[in-house]
Amino acid sequence: MNSNVWVIPEWSDDLVRGGFSFRQGGFSEGPYETLNLGAKVGDDIEKVRMNREVVATAGFGPQTEWVMAQQVHGHNVGVVGRRERGAGVTLEMPPIQDCDALVTNEPETTLVILTADCVPVLFYDPVHRAIGAAHSGWRGTTQHIVQQVILHMQFLYMTEARDLRVAIGPSIHRCCYEVDEPVADIVRNEFGENYLVSRFQKPGKYLLGLQDCIKRDLIQMGVSPANIEDAGLCTSCHTDLLFSHRKEQGKTGRECGIIRLNHFE
Ligand SMILES: [Zn+2]
Repeated sequence: MNSNVWVIPEWSDDLVRGGFSFRQGGFSEGPYETLNLGAKVGDDIEKVRMNREVVATAGFGPQTEWVMAQQVHGHNVGVVGRRERGAGVTLEMPPIQDCDALVTNEPETTLVILTADCVPVLFYDPVHRAIGAAHSGWRGTTQHIVQQVILHMQFLYMTEARDLRVAIGPSIHRCCYEVDEPVADIVRNEFGENYLVSRFQKPGKYLLGLQDCIKRDLIQMGVSPANIEDAGLCTSCHTDLLFSHRKEQGKTGRECGIIRLNHFE
């Protein structure tokens, strides 16, 4: 096990590798200290490339086989394969446009989602050998992006929800995630009042657990609760381990959710 990347133990057969990165063991300095994987947060690009190499060598394939999404807080799913490899890695090949989730059944194609509070969610169908990765902040969550991923996997790969393994990565939790009335209203409409906790003596302010909303969406689609894993780590509570956009007031790096199918002999 690599200390920079938490590899999901139950999935670590020879066929798939999924995990979430932490912020230690990289080369970046200042607010990006040290394993920043985001190329658009103001950090030195060469250091970002070196940091990504640290993650790549933890069993996630060369960067030329990585695929990244533009991540625009929407609900679109990009279907990728061999031809999209390298998207988001170099300036010549931009990330997959206008999407916040990626799916593939192509071996040796690594899906990468960058976050710093938003929820990274990884999907693995061991029966039909397909994977997915999603970026689910409050906008993605209230647009039910995880359900979009499952719908795509069902249509494209014949995935059955009951076979799916899902992992929810480090992200801001209810302890630290305060939202105001406009966001609360959308959550109320999509998930109901039960997902909001009113703040004591702070009218119009609520605590929200995006992870609970995501789990509800997964279970509603037929994913078994026993097949949902949660890193259970709050980014805002653990800025020693993780980047937190909110806690660090926007000046910080990005960690990742990353998943890859290995070649099947
Ligand atoms: Zn917290």
